Amino acid sequence: MRQALLLALLSLTLWADAHIFVYHRFGDDRHASTNTSLTILKDQFEFFKHNGYKVIPLKTLNRALKNKEEIPDNWVVLCIDDSYKSFYSNALPLFKEYGYPFALFVYIEATDRGYGDFMSWPQIREASKYGEIGLHSYAHKHMVSMSADEIKEDTIKAKHSFVKELGYAPKYYAYPYGEFDEKVKQSISSFGFDLVLNQNVGAVSDKSPHNDLDRIALTGDVPLKPKLRIKYLDALWHSPQSYPANGKLNKIHVTMPRSISRAELYISGGEWEYITVKEGEFKREQLTPLTKRRTRVIIKSGNAYTSKIIVKE
Ligand SMILES: [Zn+2]
Repeated sequence: MRQALLLALLSLTLWADAHIFVYHRFGDDRHASTNTSLTILKDQFEFFKHNGYKVIPLKTLNRALKNKEEIPDNWVVLCIDDSYKSFYSNALPLFKEYGYPFALFVYIEATDRGYGDFMSWPQIREASKYGEIGLHSYAHKHMVSMSADEIKEDTIKAKHSFVKELGYAPKYYAYPYGEFDEKVKQSISSFGFDLVLNQNVGAVSDKSPHNDLDRIALTGDVPLKPKLRIKYLDALWHSPQSYPANGKLNKIHVTMPRSISRAELYISGGEWEYITVKEGEFKREQLTPLTKRRTRVIIKSGNAYTSKIIVKE
């Protein structure tokens, strides 16, 4: 009874839309910025287990989105990008112990060529007994700098190896480095993947577009609870669409639900600032010099997030 009450209280404070998390390396402290220690991973699994979260396979989320069903707030999807050996050696046993499914996004060239830090095809086949496998490109390049033809060539090569080694066509695609623009998005979308996943902070609701799903990075010692409170913000980005040629962001134009009148804005390199939204529309024409190769423009209203990544070619 007490536990049920506690769970009900927790659900009021914590549950907010479904979440897709993305990991990279596990128990490998040579690379702190992309690593998750096994202690932290176990803590996160314990938290999911004891707080009513349901770790579901990506295919379950795919089906719900396709059928336009309501997406339960307590769903969690766990992704692993790059198919590092440290997933296979260090984390897979823990996923098996908890019976938690995962989606592993393979950097195909690294596996094809047997790069030392990456899983082999037999290891990926073994892992596929417990989770799903998706594409993470062939050559893991900065795709914004590639032509549409180069992106298609890379994807065809990746699909070819995937089918040859696993015997079925990949259904999911995650952009290398989470970097994309309209050209990359269209090129990848033309392959008809069931789901395409980015690495923008945000949650998943029944309104989430199947070819632009937000994923929250879970590396290092990041607190999990604030991430689980993040909600989906149903927004349409008119501008920016790509990295400005002169390196200066001159316009931000986003439409969102009319109920929102106040929000906060963040541009990489700057600080959060309050903004006024008029009848669901935020428009600002102001020159902001961009200081980073990769800029995130984030708008949040309460815990609801929407964001755009723009990357210099
Ligand atoms: Zn990657």
